[in-house]
Amino acid sequence: TSYGFQRVGEDEKQAKVDTVFHTVARRYDLMNDLMSMGMHRAWKSAMVAWLQPGKRPGWSSLDVAGGTGDIAFRIVDASRGNAQVTVLDINGSMLDVGAERAGKAGLLDRLTFVEANAEALPFEDDTFDAYTIAFGIRNVPHIDRALTEAYRVLKPGGRFLCLEFSEVDMPFLEKVYEQWSFRVIPQIGRMVTGEAEPYQYLVESIRKFPRQSEFAAMIEQAGFERVAWRDYSGGIAACHSGWKI
Ligand code: SAM
Repeated sequence: TSYGFQRVGEDEKQAKVDTVFHTVARRYDLMNDLMSMGMHRAWKSAMVAWLQPGKRPGWSSLDVAGGTGDIAFRIVDASRGNAQVTVLDINGSMLDVGAERAGKAGLLDRLTFVEANAEALPFEDDTFDAYTIAFGIRNVPHIDRALTEAYRVLKPGGRFLCLEFSEVDMPFLEKVYEQWSFRVIPQIGRMVTGEAEPYQYLVESIRKFPRQSEFAAMIEQAGFERVAWRDYSGGIAACHSGWKI
């Protein structure tokens, strides 16, 4: 297969992204651990700690591009049983893995799985107390549409949080990180899934994603206020926060 991501248009991009995640769904969790040397776990926990979910019964959140459920499980855990989380993903294969994991963890009564597109959410306006998206938004062809939809489905007073790979701000770390992502990650991908190209795509999409301040401006453009971000691991990842006031 040739994914050829650099050359495709935005609508084709979604089809390519879908192929990648159908291909890797069963190995996705293992790959995350290997590629980030386990760091994605700490970043996800830090994001959920910043959210402080579920202060009261009935508190609800939407985890977009929720994949195999990592963020949703952490939110339910941190909410002391208050949170009801909807896991939304465009990819049924990823959601299948998430639902299996939720079943094993006895969390199915707290979670709902929905197969849909981040650019056209199947929910009414003002529905959720929080919206999260982790390592998902850079895969969405029209980021502005996803942000507008996030704003729409949040209740007034609701919180938006986005975790994504970002720009490293330390020259030495940047060099190491570059070697790791361009040389090592596709090789790990080949060893574990038999294919290197889906991972080449992931690495390229990280490079193309806007840096912290630019992405903050896009979030403000969608209507969010008090926009801020925190860098994790020197900016390898960053978490952006905004409020619908
Ligand atoms: N949030 C999970 C995590 O952090 O482990 C999964 C992240 S995974 C790198 C990216 C996910 O985005 C995939 O499950 C993919 O199917 C999903 N995705 C890609 N495009 C999407 C879209 N337009 N709408 C919703 N989900 C999408």
